[in-house]
Amino acid sequence: MDLESSPITNLPEMVEIWQKTLNWQPTNAQEDKFQQLYQLIIAGNRQLNLTRITEPEEFWEKHLWDSLRGIAPKQHFIPGIEKSKRIIDIGTGAGFPGIPISLLFPNSQVTLLDSTRKKITFIEEILSILAISNAKTLLGRAEEIGQEYEHRQHYDVAVIRAVSNVSVCAEYTLPLVKKGGLAVIYRGTWTQEENESLENAVIQLGGVIELIEEFSTPLSNSIRHCLYLRKVTNTPISFPRAVGIPVQKPL
Ligand code: SAH
Repeated sequence: MDLESSPITNLPEMVEIWQKTLNWQPTNAQEDKFQQLYQLIIAGNRQLNLTRITEPEEFWEKHLWDSLRGIAPKQHFIPGIEKSKRIIDIGTGAGFPGIPISLLFPNSQVTLLDSTRKKITFIEEILSILAISNAKTLLGRAEEIGQEYEHRQHYDVAVIRAVSNVSVCAEYTLPLVKKGGLAVIYRGTWTQEENESLENAVIQLGGVIELIEEFSTPLSNSIRHCLYLRKVTNTPISFPRAVGIPVQKPL
């Protein structure tokens, strides 16, 4: 990646909005990393089709703010998330929401999972250039990783954004979460029908719906929903099902 040919446009800082919406403000160091991350993604986008969101304000809102708002139910970060928690981002793509989360919580260990090798290679470059030492990549499918001993029921928090329908997201996340841990599913709109399929899936996977939060984004006023699923009992070993089945036959 060539930083020299990156755009000079800067991300907006938005200190007041961070404060108002998350009760938090980035340090100068975090602000610098956000800026560098933006530049790297724009540069990477020239070769890889990573994201349609390239304008600075839109990137700030839909990638940075949205990533962090999801782990702040009721506008406060998930209690204890800053303390050595294990977090997995499933279907991270260009690194969202996982990279902003890792920049916020340097004492957490963030695993960035994706099934596309070129995305994982790109993220590895980002982690190295930004000197992010508390995040690592994992190449694989959520259906297989969820059955592996070293990953199953191993994470305190699993996040998932823009990967599939809601019961698929529940089947990808909950097997990876420890008992007592949390799965966070990022959504745009949300319907009653989806609510029913989520309830049905969550019961089978050993979870309960703890909170469904609706909010709007601070610049474009777009509607968002975040679903917080608490893992209460072990997930039966039959889940996640084999590669492709969760999508073909959603719970
Ligand atoms: N979370 C990112 C990217 C969403 S695109 C964002 O919100 O911007 C969806 C990503 O999920 C793609 O990169 C795709 O490769 C990955 N993906 C889809 N199914 C997957 C699976 N079963 N296991 C792992 N990754 C998957």
